[in-house]
Amino acid sequence: MNDILLLKPGEIFLKGLNKRYFEEKLMNNLRRRLKHVGRFEVSCRQSTFYVEPRSEDADLDAALEAARQVFGFATVTRAAACEKTPEAIAKLAISHLKADMESARSFKVETKRSDKRFPMTSIELSQYVGGLLKEAYPDVEVEMHHPDLVVHLEVRELAAYVHAAPLPGAGGMPVGSNGSAVTLLSGGIDSPVSSYLIAKRGVRLVPVHFFSFPYTSELAKQKVIDLAKLLEPYTGRMTLQIVPFTHIQEEIRRQVPEEYFTLVMRRFMMRIAADIAAHSDCKAIVTGENLGQVASQTMEAMASTQSVIDLPVLQPLIGMDKTDIIRYAREIGTFETSILPYEDCCTVFTPRHPKTRPTVAEVAEVESVMDIDGLVQEAVAGIERIKIGYEC
Ligand code: ATP
Ligand code: MG
Repeated sequence: MNDILLLKPGEIFLKGLNKRYFEEKLMNNLRRRLKHVGRFEVSCRQSTFYVEPRSEDADLDAALEAARQVFGFATVTRAAACEKTPEAIAKLAISHLKADMESARSFKVETKRSDKRFPMTSIELSQYVGGLLKEAYPDVEVEMHHPDLVVHLEVRELAAYVHAAPLPGAGGMPVGSNGSAVTLLSGGIDSPVSSYLIAKRGVRLVPVHFFSFPYTSELAKQKVIDLAKLLEPYTGRMTLQIVPFTHIQEEIRRQVPEEYFTLVMRRFMMRIAADIAAHSDCKAIVTGENLGQVASQTMEAMASTQSVIDLPVLQPLIGMDKTDIIRYAREIGTFETSILPYEDCCTVFTPRHPKTRPTVAEVAEVESVMDIDGLVQEAVAGIERIKIGYEC
């Protein structure tokens, strides 16, 4: 008899009128994610999602890990299965929950019975199994109000299930439930984390990378592709857009005073991002900016960068300490790739003394000699699109 997974969505967004809509998104995202690890049936009843293996090689441990990366689920639990008799259920509870029972001081049993033909009521089954657990583990007290351990029993159509404390899920909201945004993905530590955090708020992402070949190498590009692949278990499938940025950077170097290089470059990035957003139904731009971290991340510099577009710029890392950003990067698994030593286009032609307190008008004035629209259109026309996570 096969073990199964039980998943509980976060409560908050399931209370509103859009419950159906959120549940459907969750169901689709979960199904797509599980395709990587075997054949499973996914169903939802009373806001609990059930994942049941449907082939011999379906790997439930891998499914558990995959499910824990799907935004919108508060908890994920692996439940052991047995025949639907009180004796079998008690026997399974005693063996399956050995470690949990031995480390708890108190426990109680809770039963959910969706098969109404089962001969005992929920309360009777809880009492019966609770009694036998108490006999098997006499040092653990029965405690109805604040037990250390809640033993869960479920009697369903095909089998009965036993499980203990759930594991935390990924939290957040189902990807796709809050619209789409362009995320600026460099090869650094910060932008994979900012992308992750915005996806966690239910936003589908279109990652964009500015690539300055040959000043930045093919390896630097591969690094960004690898980062996008590492994000995909959380974000779902994405189309990474690689924007050729060399000509723009060379023109900036040729036509703009050195202290403004980075400021003007970032305004080009925003214009191109906004163009991509307009063509992919995205309503915001996400960046990994962090107040005061570098010269281009002062309030004045950010005002200059953002003034060229109408879309909101989402900066989830703006007030974080670097140590906290790194902790996230480690948790989501992007840190080791981010610290590989390949250059980014921001480090090409870096001014020796960048302007940190520019006025918007001053930056607009220095770049006005450039063919801004022409350069933006040329870059957009040369975009390379790489599909991430479309294999199955
Ligand atoms: P990161 O670690 O994400 O590279 P950073 O601290 O190095 O950030 P900057 O280089 O100033 O900061 O970049 C700020 C933000 O601009 C990045 O977080 C990212 O969102 C975006 N960005 C920078 N370079 C690129 C690039 N080559 N392609 C796409 N986005 C970029
Ligand atoms: Mg960077």
